[in-house]
Amino acid sequence: AKWVYTFGGGAAEGGIALVESLGAKGAGLAEMSALGLPVPPGFTITTEICQHYLANGHAFPEELTRQVAAALDGIGHVAERRFGDCDNPLLVSVRSGAAVSMPGMMDTVLNLGLNDQTVEGLARVSGDRRFAFDSYRRFIQMYGDVVLGLDHSAFEERLEDYKLANGLAFDSDLSADDWRAVCDIFKGLVVEELDEAFPQAPEAQLWGAIRAVIGSWNNPRAVVYRRINGISGEAGTAVTIQAMVFGNLGESSATGVAFTRHPSTGEKVLWGEFLPNAQGEDVVAGTRTPQDLTERARAETGSELPSLESSMPEVFATFSAVCAQLERHHRDVLDLEFTVERGRLWMLQARPAKRTIRAALKTAVDMAHEGLITKSEAVARIEPRTLDQLLHPTIDPDASSDIFARGLPASPGAASGTVVFSSEEAETARTQGRKVILVRVETSPEDVHGMHAARGILTTRGGMTSHAAVVARGMGKPCVSGAGQIRVDFHAGTMTAGGRTIRRGDTITIDGGTGQVLVGAVPLREPELSGAFAELMGWADEIRTLKIRTNVDTPADARAARGFGAEGIGLCRTEHMFFDARRITVVREMILAETEAARADALDKLLPMQRSDFAALFEIMSGLPVTIRLLDPPLHEFLPKGEPEIAELAAAMGVAPARIRARTQALAEANPMLGHRGVRLAISFPEIVEMQVRAILEAALAVGDETGVPVELEIMVPLIAAKAELDLVGARIRQAEEIVRKLHGRAPAFQFGTMIELPRAALAAGELAKSASFFSFGTNDLTQTTFGISRDDAAPYLNSYLALGLLPHDPFASLDEEGVGELIRIACERGRATRPDIKIGVCGEHGGDPASIHFFAGINLDYVSCSPFRVPIARLAAAQAAL
Ligand code: ADP
Ligand code: MG
Ligand code: MG
Repeated sequence: AKWVYTFGGGAAEGGIALVESLGAKGAGLAEMSALGLPVPPGFTITTEICQHYLANGHAFPEELTRQVAAALDGIGHVAERRFGDCDNPLLVSVRSGAAVSMPGMMDTVLNLGLNDQTVEGLARVSGDRRFAFDSYRRFIQMYGDVVLGLDHSAFEERLEDYKLANGLAFDSDLSADDWRAVCDIFKGLVVEELDEAFPQAPEAQLWGAIRAVIGSWNNPRAVVYRRINGISGEAGTAVTIQAMVFGNLGESSATGVAFTRHPSTGEKVLWGEFLPNAQGEDVVAGTRTPQDLTERARAETGSELPSLESSMPEVFATFSAVCAQLERHHRDVLDLEFTVERGRLWMLQARPAKRTIRAALKTAVDMAHEGLITKSEAVARIEPRTLDQLLHPTIDPDASSDIFARGLPASPGAASGTVVFSSEEAETARTQGRKVILVRVETSPEDVHGMHAARGILTTRGGMTSHAAVVARGMGKPCVSGAGQIRVDFHAGTMTAGGRTIRRGDTITIDGGTGQVLVGAVPLREPELSGAFAELMGWADEIRTLKIRTNVDTPADARAARGFGAEGIGLCRTEHMFFDARRITVVREMILAETEAARADALDKLLPMQRSDFAALFEIMSGLPVTIRLLDPPLHEFLPKGEPEIAELAAAMGVAPARIRARTQALAEANPMLGHRGVRLAISFPEIVEMQVRAILEAALAVGDETGVPVELEIMVPLIAAKAELDLVGARIRQAEEIVRKLHGRAPAFQFGTMIELPRAALAAGELAKSASFFSFGTNDLTQTTFGISRDDAAPYLNSYLALGLLPHDPFASLDEEGVGELIRIACERGRATRPDIKIGVCGEHGGDPASIHFFAGINLDYVSCSPFRVPIARLAAAQAAL
């Protein structure tokens, strides 16, 4: 079998088509090489080897050794150096790279092949002894960390000690002999820690690194990253072995990262950072302040350090041309790594760039306008769930704010929270439901879980491409990085800036869009959804056939939902109007009334209130369909809970508290979810139905008259199991309609339908459709009743079900297609058999879940209805389902 694919010298054995085997990095390198771009020669060991290795007790297929040796010879041939040669040694990097890129989560080793002999050869051929020993000490440290499992910081400490002892302030102050001495100290550290010499044989180094890189697929931070991002653990990583090029060969050398368009705003400008006389990991580590690529960016950041454009104009011109060519070739925004070795440009990585949702939208829309991609492709490129981030608030510009410090605007959005200084604290805070901002000097992949738990991240060191910045953007979390004025004292649990101190537990606000760190909780403002967002959503609307409605009960939410593009109300829960502080007493009077007359009295008071609620919604929806559900929850939910409330109500009603207590107890139920609710209430309390229907119809009449736009009205009965129930309630609704007709001389048109949230209703859908002109699947209840579990107290065992893999996903978040979906399919089939034009929608949480929306679109539902903030997500998911 072929396990190894070579690239370099203007050719390549693989390319993007083999991304599953070569990983994103390996495939991208092969692709660039085939395009004739300057890529150091190398080869990639496939992900299948990783799978084989992990499944077979860490053994490789025998054949691999030969293929690797041959490929290594091939690199040497192109690079005109030999691996292990003492005069002109070939050095390589051993790089990890999965098909789905996981930036910085796995390991890489640079400068491999150096030992006490080859370092002398490198010094001679490069004519730069200092460089050779700088590379060697880097190698010992990286190999020691990644392969030998030593602590990275142990090496750092020794280096600091050496500098201190010799009066050297910066790395740049160290001479060749200094680095040589540091190499000896580092090797001594290895012997001290492991009782074994640092491995000198290049062959042994190579296989040690290959094993370590493959092993890093399962390191804890990679595992956490995959879990957070829903990436499967099966695929494995590829290993790319590539000839080293040196950005640390003096001032005409450099290393950097770039994005072909701005990864935060999406603006069509080349954007990135570089460091002269450095190696790749220096940029990502955030240990030195990187410099801007372009003059334009330098002007914006006000940096005093020169840009690449001004300091290496020829390299910059070549690089810009390469960027343009790669973008055209890949038809996507790319994340690039490059190194300049003595004035010569080398490309080290090209992969689709991680970007903010704002940038994703802008680049997709721009690229469609540029003719690089079609509108459908643009729509397909946006992950619907990520739209959520757009709805992130920003700092209210009118609010007064007290700036504590400034850093870089590393990931947009604003967040407030109390300060914590470790990922463990952040994690604990999350489990306690506290909102925190994680403050670190810089983050490392070990902090990913803490970053996930925090509302926002603040670092005092590191650039826009530092670990914290990259990971936060990927998570859609606000992040301010490199706030250099801040001094953190972890021991004391404080941070200071400008003479002021903030303690652990104090509240701050960070603005990842501007880089500001503010004292206290600053008011936030909702974002504007115009520009690229509006344009792309317009394209999505042209593509989709599924309508998107919203679940709302208040005018404010209804207005917001229309702003998000809702095409009607799929569920108005009338009871939510009852919880209003001013009304709850009247509602309680109605429930507790002991005589028909007393109940009628209370209902008379509620009627005008409900009428005006409905009128407001009808007006906002202006001719779009509005589905109103009759009262659903168990009555005791409305009753007073504590003694003070009971006393208050007793006074208002002029009865003894004991009576109220007794009535409350009488209404208590063991299983309210399966109790006296929904249609069952409508049957026991026909007066409530009458009041609600009157309010609905009168409001519809009034709004129709006032606006000249008739209300598209749908009245819906919850928790139906059988046609007989539906017919009884239907008859009561007709009676109420008659009352309205008598009072007003006419009544508005409306449709009458049912929710389907019990398995029996789904099975009896053929019968129900004789009376109902529409169905609305209440998938929350249908999931509960199909599984026979109550969502309210399912969390403990549901979580272990998920952990054990007994369920593929939380069925309350994403529809269980196999069971609940099957009931929905059956109900649709039987309902349509009775009434071919029956309107069918969904009004559960699942109506806003992209995976569930694919299912609903697939069985040709008419609409889904979801909470206002999910409407854009649903519009996009419905379009993608139609592609
Ligand atoms: P990651 O996936 O964490 O970015 P990489 O394998 O891309 O890891 O490598 C880390 C750093 O080392 C990058 O900056 C990269 O450009 C640099 N690097 C990798 N291979 C080479 C090489 N052959 N020559 C010079 N620099 C390299
Ligand atoms: Mg990289
Ligand atoms: Mg329900």
